[in-house]
Parts: sequence; C-alpha cells; structure tokens
Amino acid sequence: MSIVRLSPVVQGLASSATLVLNARIQAMQAEGIDVINFTAGEPDFPTPRRISGAAIRAIESGLTRYTAVRGILPLRKAIVRRIALDYGLRFDPDDVVVGNGGKQCLYNLWRSLLEPGDEVVVIAPYWVSYPPQIQLAGGVPVVVHTRLEDGFQVDVKALEAACGPRTRAILINSPANPSGVALRDDVMADIARLCCERDLILATDDLYCKMVYGGFVFHSPGALVPEVVRRLVIIGGVSKAYAMTGWRIGYALGPRSLIDAMIKVQAQSTSNPCTISQYAALEALTGAAGDEEVAAMVAEFERRRDRMYELITAIPGLECVKPEGAFYVFPRVSSYFGRRTPDGRIVASATDLLEYLIDTARVAGVPGDAFGGPEHIRFSYACNVETIEKGMARVAQALDRLR
Ligand code: PLP
Repeated sequence: MSIVRLSPVVQGLASSATLVLNARIQAMQAEGIDVINFTAGEPDFPTPRRISGAAIRAIESGLTRYTAVRGILPLRKAIVRRIALDYGLRFDPDDVVVGNGGKQCLYNLWRSLLEPGDEVVVIAPYWVSYPPQIQLAGGVPVVVHTRLEDGFQVDVKALEAACGPRTRAILINSPANPSGVALRDDVMADIARLCCERDLILATDDLYCKMVYGGFVFHSPGALVPEVVRRLVIIGGVSKAYAMTGWRIGYALGPRSLIDAMIKVQAQSTSNPCTISQYAALEALTGAAGDEEVAAMVAEFERRRDRMYELITAIPGLECVKPEGAFYVFPRVSSYFGRRTPDGRIVASATDLLEYLIDTARVAGVPGDAFGGPEHIRFSYACNVETIEKGMARVAQALDRLR
C-alpha cells in the first residue's frame, strides 16, 4: 500500500476521458494497428508557417525570458482589437490576461471567484473539464441538461430553477464541445438577462467561435445585451482557430478586479505563458493572412462536417443534431443498448459500445458519459474526408452485426 495520502478533492477527480482515450488509440497506432481515431480534440492542420516563423524570430532575437505574468502588451492589445472587430465589444488591455490555454484561464477564473461550496451552473452536454475544474477550486458544478429533441438548446427556465443562493456564475460554450451546437441569439440573450437579474458572472467559453458553418453568425451575449458586459468573462484562445493547440495560449477578458485576481493566481502558480508562444499568438492575431487562413480551414471543416453528418444519419438507429460549429458530432447511440455482440456480450452503455467498436471495427470515439451525455458518443471530424468515410463505413458494418 502506498504511504502517500492524496488530497480528497484530487482523489475524487475524474481523469480527462478524452486525453486518456486519445493516448490509448495513439499507442495502438504506434503498434501498427489500423485504428481510426475520431477522439482528437484538435485540428489536424499544421500551424501556419508565418506563425511558426514569428516564434523562430522571437527565439533568434532573444525573446526568451519571462514576460509580465498577464502577457505581453502587444498581444493583449491585439486581443482587444480582435474582440472589438469580431464581437463589437470594447475592452482595455488591462482587462485581459493571457494564460496557458483557455483551459488555464477557466481554472484561474474559478480559483479567483469561488468560495468552498459556491455553485456554477453548467449546461450538459459539456466539455469534460468543466465540472472537475470547478470542483478543484472548491466549487460545486450544478448541471442543467438539454435534449437532443430541442437541438440541445437550453431551457432558460430550467437554468433559472438551477440558480440558488450559492450560485456565482453560469458557464456557456457556443459552439459547444461535444455537440457542435451553437446557442440561438434569443437563448443567449435570455441567459445574459438572467445573469443580470441574479447578480451572476456570465462566463462564455468561445474557443470555437470562429469555427462556424452554414452561414451561422456568432454573437457574444455582450453584443446582444450590453448590460451584461460588466459581469461577462470571455474565454478565448488560438488553439483551435489557428491550429495552435500545442503552443498553449488562451486568454480571458472581463471585469478588472476579477482579471487582477486571476493574474494573482497565475503569478503564484505558473507565471507568464510561454514567451515564444506569445509572439506566435501575436502573429496569429495580427498577421495580414490570418483571416484567409482561418477561412480556408473553416471551409475544409465544413466539408467534413457535411460528410460526417450525412454518413452518421444514414446509419439506422443513430440520431444526431447537425452541428453549427467546432469539429465534433454527438450522435445518440442508445438504441443499440441491450443488444448483443457477435461473441455474446451485452452492450449496456456507450462505453460498452465504444469498446466493441474499438475491438472489432477499429474505430474510436469518446463515450458521452464524460460529457454528461451517457447515451451518446462523440466523434471528431478533425481528419480528412477519406478517413471519415472509411471510419463510418466500419461503424455502420459493426453496428449492423449487433443483435
Ligand atoms: N474549451 C473547450 C470547449 C475546449 O474544447 C477546449 C479544448 O479542447 C478548451 C476550452 C481549452 O483549449 P486550450 O486550453 O487549448 O485553449
């Protein structure tokens, strides 16, 4: 038995299901097994050369030391300019903190805001890290479920009912991981008004706001309901839109006292995010070719989304909402629960179904349990169309063999 006594909070914490599965599938691929990996949470495109070039120039010119904890001023100015252009909202560079990914910014937000037992309302299906991050900060995630039948739009009355005396914030993510669904403007506006009425922080995880399809136009709740801006925390980053997941740069904008608190947390934990990556992110957000590069990647993702959605909905028993953004589909697979595999095992859950798909079809996705959607599986389409077609043909065949 180990002599190490772990903190109860960490003992009770879930591992990141997506990272665990992705590592397992990559290990199978390294052994030479032909397994199709639909677990990825990152674009398959390389980081554009002009961005990598800016990082190389930063290294060569000696920009390799610590920076201000909150990030370099030119980058914070560039973020403010982007938010003005993309959202129509005005912030000051001192209302911005640059962190080690949107993930760290979110964690620092909960660390700065919550007292033990304070609640944050989270909408399911949700990104896997939301509940654990809130728990790590001593808070309690309160989950409001949405239904596939409603296109995963949240019922604002249910959201209101979930708010109690300990509620400090509502967290939204649009377009969402794992469903790809974007909240309608009227829903977004109602959530913003609810936050104003109840004196809550509205945190918006906008990591996928540039990756939208079919003419969908992203609006921040701050643009829809100007009164909410005083209590709005925008979480963004370069990981997804600029294919920069490994560079680890994200940011938060919000009320200055809260941002200052987040900077304090960052100062005592990780200090500034990687200096070289900050210069790369600066190029991403300001370079002349930026918008065209993003548009080209988004156009390719839209082609993949269309093909993935077409193939998924052609499989009997799978139901799926057509995503407006991100690069995931989240079909309901529960019509297969209770069936038997050819070797006699009962499929009782999305995890069982996924194990069957990995074992026999050599296709991997992520079971919905970790996203608060246990009847679903998440498939990522951050891969080429040929892979999507091959993988979905295998899924269709394997599901057809269940009795
Ligand atoms: N938010 C959502 C919804 C995500 O899917 C991710 C990454 O998968 C993140 C935040 C964090 O991204 P990063 O830390 O790379 O900025």
